[in-house]
Amino acid sequence: MGDHRAFFLSTIFNMVKRVNEKVLDPYDVAVMQLRKAVNVLGLGEEAFEALKTHERVIQVKIPVKMDDGKMRVFIGWRAQHNSALGPYKGGVRYHPEASMGEVMALSMWMTWKCSLLQLPFGGGKGAVRVDPRRLSPREIEELSRRYFASLARFVGEDLDIPAPDVYTNPQIMAWYVDEYYRIVGANIFGVVTSKPPALGGLNTRIIATGLGVATVAREAARHILGGLEGRSVAVQGFGNVGSYAAYYLSTWGARVIAVSDSSGGIYNPRGLRIEEVMKVKSEKGSVIHYQDSKKISNDELLTLDVDILVPAALENVITADNAPKIRAKMIVEGANGPTTPEADEILFKRGVFVVPDILANAGGVTASWIEWVNNRMGGWLTEEDARSKLENKMAEAFNSFYSYLNRRSDIDPRTAAQAMAVERVYNAMKLRGWV
Ligand code: NAD
Repeated sequence: MGDHRAFFLSTIFNMVKRVNEKVLDPYDVAVMQLRKAVNVLGLGEEAFEALKTHERVIQVKIPVKMDDGKMRVFIGWRAQHNSALGPYKGGVRYHPEASMGEVMALSMWMTWKCSLLQLPFGGGKGAVRVDPRRLSPREIEELSRRYFASLARFVGEDLDIPAPDVYTNPQIMAWYVDEYYRIVGANIFGVVTSKPPALGGLNTRIIATGLGVATVAREAARHILGGLEGRSVAVQGFGNVGSYAAYYLSTWGARVIAVSDSSGGIYNPRGLRIEEVMKVKSEKGSVIHYQDSKKISNDELLTLDVDILVPAALENVITADNAPKIRAKMIVEGANGPTTPEADEILFKRGVFVVPDILANAGGVTASWIEWVNNRMGGWLTEEDARSKLENKMAEAFNSFYSYLNRRSDIDPRTAAQAMAVERVYNAMKLRGWV
């Protein structure tokens, strides 16, 4: 009897706890952020509705003949949020928890990101609800071809240009291009980006997000710290984004004194030799095997006394708990969503300058834009051209954001970036007669 009562009480307690701790759906978060930007811009309810509403959300059924001979049906989506500035642009993820709400939110974020970077693109995002780790390569190929075939009427180099995202890659993009060729009867490489170089891709894509983070940090340091030369930097996460960000920052004269990965961090106040750290990470699996340094934890890294902090691993690592202890003068968000809204407020009040993810990690989509332009020019650019165009575009985007921020010192940088992006989309919609 006592056990029954205890079970009953704990069930009620857990239900109440779940309601109180309701994790916000990404779509709700995207809409809340848009509401904030619309308010800052002083636009009305009509504008909010027009900016919020997706132009099209497509759901497709994907039957796949599995290796055991049985048919299995998967569900996929492509959300096309807004095309006022150009064709929709955004990745496709294969994930067992993918949902329509998630792709709708992600496509809205892509609209703002492309707008902020002044790219001629709108926002799109796709997904298939599948765990690709449980499929054979042949099953993944069939699923990919079928997904893209179902979307063939809705994509195109002037209409919607997908790219890889979580658990998708250049090989999958090659299958998409080929499937599109079979359907439309033409080799249109610009229909997707991040392809293998043999099919019109660029190697620059691999370094793009890290190089973009470093470029934005360099520009921000020029305005706020009086330059990058000799400035100290800590980078959390030494993967694709973090390692190239650290590499370029150190090449340009900054002193990268701490980096970390999921096994822990390393610290040397004189500066780490980043190329060596990259070598150690690729040979031994973690940065912690690098010799000339002291071991530190990921938490310690975040609160080091540095000029620039680059979180480039996970979301929600800078929170209300550690934000008061952060000693960096500037945070450049390589990762998506590393700072919680409470931490944002604390940092703003404390005068820590945050370059928001929507701008700082936009090097990937910017490289995609360069690849798309190059495909349409028949492969005109060299890798060197692509790299310098990427750097110029990121620097330009930061500088125009920074002058906007100077005119709106009443709002925090994240809200400013969002407002700036929304305003551009709204103006394009107005010119086209959509609002
Ligand atoms: P990645 O998998 O290449 O690297 C992630 C790194 O973070 C790894 O070194 C891993 O060991 C480390 N890590 C994991 N848990 C950690 C922890 N608790 N503490 C410290 N380090 C930890 O991933 P990536 O492509 O470099 O992406 C990193 C972040 O950047 C993600 O938030 C991603 O969404 C975002 N992002 C990536 C790109 C891109 O082009 N790769 C573009 C935009 C945004």
